[in-house]
Amino acid sequence: MSDRLPGFSTLAVHAGAQPDPTTGARATPIYQTTSFVFNDADHAASLFGLQAFGNIYTRIGNPTNAVLEERVAALEGGTAALAVASGHAAQVVVLQQLLQPGDEFIAARKLYGGSINQFTHAFKSFGWNVVWADPDDIASFERAVTPRTKAIFIESIANPAGSITDIEAISTVARKAGVPLIVDNTLASPYLIRPIDHGADIVVHSLTKFLGGHGNSLGGIIVDAGTFDWSTGGKYPMLSEPRPEYHGIRLQETFGNFAFAIACRVLGLRDLGPALSPFNAFMILTGIETLPLRMQKHCDNAKAVAEFLAGHPAVASVSYAGLPSDKYNQLARKYAPRGAGAVFTFSLKGGYDAGVSLVSKLQLFSHLANVGDTRSLVIHPASTTHSQLDDAAKVKSGAGPDVVRLSIGIEDKEDLIADLEQALGA
Ligand SMILES: *Cc1c(COP(=O)(O)O)cnc(C)c1O
Repeated sequence: MSDRLPGFSTLAVHAGAQPDPTTGARATPIYQTTSFVFNDADHAASLFGLQAFGNIYTRIGNPTNAVLEERVAALEGGTAALAVASGHAAQVVVLQQLLQPGDEFIAARKLYGGSINQFTHAFKSFGWNVVWADPDDIASFERAVTPRTKAIFIESIANPAGSITDIEAISTVARKAGVPLIVDNTLASPYLIRPIDHGADIVVHSLTKFLGGHGNSLGGIIVDAGTFDWSTGGKYPMLSEPRPEYHGIRLQETFGNFAFAIACRVLGLRDLGPALSPFNAFMILTGIETLPLRMQKHCDNAKAVAEFLAGHPAVASVSYAGLPSDKYNQLARKYAPRGAGAVFTFSLKGGYDAGVSLVSKLQLFSHLANVGDTRSLVIHPASTTHSQLDDAAKVKSGAGPDVVRLSIGIEDKEDLIADLEQALGA
């Protein structure tokens, strides 16, 4: 064996997986079982007391899911990961370890519409207060910090317009405030951006999108960078204080640089329960094997489509960071040199009615609420994903009435352009 570190494409195929030791199966088996037999009573007790690692019950961990966790941790450059049932479940589990009722977290205003809802309404009922900041104005994050701030949450490539966030600048604010930076890396995937390399402490994903990549399985994942010191100032009692459910152990002291991933598993997933089905883990693992190939094609197609739209007379503007004229192009060159992703927006001269009409005329593009499928997708955010926002908030979050969002798939780009051409022209 050479001592060369494996490259990204090699990790995407191999990280975390070995041939099955009992059967020799080369693909990772689906361990479709709820529970696992203990060796003896001492073994059982040590598993329950967190003195030994091993399988107990699939709500807490499963061998198929474990391969997925190791693989995504390797691709993101983290110390450990935890797979959960959806991207939203990942967000709940992460913040449950960090916030007590009455605490605050700062979130970028440009986010997935579902996250805006979750943060504004569901989290409020837990006593967790979101404070919004503008990712294009770094000082707005600094101004939002208070003694109750426990985390900062941003997207690397942000919904819906595919804008690029200055992760390093915001990580400096987080460091100064003594709070972890959480980056939702769903739209970039680690193939385009690895937020930990730029100062993120925690990475979350909706695996439902580009990582799974085929529009067939929900999933989410939390990656621990292992970079944050949870013991400072008693701000994070879930990690620094003795845990009564585990004979008084302190997670940070016992698990060091993967304590956060452990907390998410043994306090979050165990008690809240959003476990990922091993079948979905298998589907997502299979998707990840081709992530580098798919992601490059997604980006190359997206750039071609964005260039076509930018030259079309019915189009008022295109927001795609991969275009040299785009206001995020400088940040795209720095953070995502392989491509600026495949989700972006454009606006039509005909406004709201033209947006609705375009969506109805497209044939190859599917009209639905998802991104990161092999198939190309279209949606009109103002009447769907972002419809709960008032008009001013819609515009601020990049989902004004004339805006159409595309998620570009891996079909032939000529076919995608022809479909848009007929729908725009007709
Ligand atoms: C889809 C999505 C989520 C939510 O993930 P689910 O798997 O649908 O729960 C969160 N963030 C981003 C950026 C997303 O695209």
